[in-house]
Amino acid sequence: MRSHLLNDATAESYRRSVTEGVERVAAKLAATRRPFSGVTPAELAPVIDAVDLDRPLGDASAALDELEDVYLRDAVYFHHPRYLGHLNCPVVIPAVLGEAVLSAINSSLDTWDQSAGGTLIERKLIDWTTGRIGLGPAADGVFTSGGTQSNLQAMLLAREEAKTKDLAKLRIFSSECSHFSVQKSATLLGLGADAVISIPVDRNKRMQSVVLAAELEACRAEGLVPMAIVATAGTTDFGSIDPLPEIATLADEYGAWMHVDAAYGCGLLASRTRRHLLDGIERADSVTVDYHKSFFQPVSSSALLVRDGATLRHATYHADYLNPRRAVTELIPNQVDKSLQTTRRFDALKLWMTLRVMGADGIGELFDEVCDLAREGHALLAADPRYDVVVEPQLSTLVYRYVPEAVTSPAEIDRANLYARKALFASGEAVVAGTKVDGRQYLKFTLLNPETTAADIAAVLDLIAGHAEQYLGETLVHA
Ligand SMILES: *Cc1c(COP(=O)(O)O)cnc(C)c1O
Repeated sequence: MRSHLLNDATAESYRRSVTEGVERVAAKLAATRRPFSGVTPAELAPVIDAVDLDRPLGDASAALDELEDVYLRDAVYFHHPRYLGHLNCPVVIPAVLGEAVLSAINSSLDTWDQSAGGTLIERKLIDWTTGRIGLGPAADGVFTSGGTQSNLQAMLLAREEAKTKDLAKLRIFSSECSHFSVQKSATLLGLGADAVISIPVDRNKRMQSVVLAAELEACRAEGLVPMAIVATAGTTDFGSIDPLPEIATLADEYGAWMHVDAAYGCGLLASRTRRHLLDGIERADSVTVDYHKSFFQPVSSSALLVRDGATLRHATYHADYLNPRRAVTELIPNQVDKSLQTTRRFDALKLWMTLRVMGADGIGELFDEVCDLAREGHALLAADPRYDVVVEPQLSTLVYRYVPEAVTSPAEIDRANLYARKALFASGEAVVAGTKVDGRQYLKFTLLNPETTAADIAAVLDLIAGHAEQYLGETLVHA
């Protein structure tokens, strides 16, 4: 079995094995005609069930053959121009190369003695990101597994920096369109069930700062403590960006921690034409960025950045075997003192390779392209009598619904849209997402693929209308 260990003696077999895997994936990507096969869980479950994990195949080629059936054939392919669903992106090659390198070397970013240069590379990328945000000289941060963890850590820091230890008194303010990880974090951090105050949005789905001001005042009047304001820079559903400067001013006034959840909008940090949309982010106490959304990085790659690096001490615990206090005085750098995780992937290497090959402008151009495409898509939807579109896109998301010419009940329109989304998914021709707006069923394109064209969008809209019309036609016949 030693022949499977990656080391000096097996370097040749490593090269052959990984090359074979890369060749198969490359062939797969080249031959993929649809983003999805349309397979159902009921069809796929027996295929996976039939694999006996206690009877290994012994060699990589056989396992790759099997992988075709259990995974590759029916995977969802984000590189396909008609994948328009969630915030998961097609990935850039330099980052995939970085992924292959980091898993082969298997650095762990908790301590210097498990990563050496990896620690310094991560730190340089953190500094690069805080520089782009404009967080100032004391800024710091750490890579995380994703926006959910970044938001959790931000709320931990805000809780520890709050003016009271009475958790029942703490309040977090975020818009009704903020990510559910804000609520989840509040619960995990022991805050009360009513700790998160949901602020309504305006017609462009941006937090209403006037209401925020009133809620902050009410909070103070009741003797409660505004712990944090979470501004979203790129809401998951609409890509809307909360009014960051107004929120920053209110955070100052009420002594609240300002967190900007830029999990989605962080791609603007690399844009040469749209960076101004994030104006005000430089006043944040902490910022979440998901490189695995708008920097075209493979999952996972995310970071939490903070204005005052010293606040990261709230995540510091010492273990004699790992990061003794002595190491601090010896000036040996480690990242575990800043992280909620211990053993941690060297995800930073993917971004490093990306910046070294393409540069930030390269990433920014790709993100700008999908934002431009969203404008085109919005124009198509606005001109199409079959569709009702919700907001003009600030980033790359379009929320819309099919509306039939003939008058039907709102519930029937909801069902037609739901049906169309499911039928489209089952056909594998395209993948779109769905969401609710004011209680009604809508559909959503999250555009993250610069290869998608306006013609793709138009074609998918025709497919959706076809499915919706078929549904309405059938229900009429059966009525
Ligand atoms: C995706 C998203 C998150 C969660 O990030 P994960 O990487 O999926 O954990 C948080 N906030 C916003 C606004 C998001 O879009």
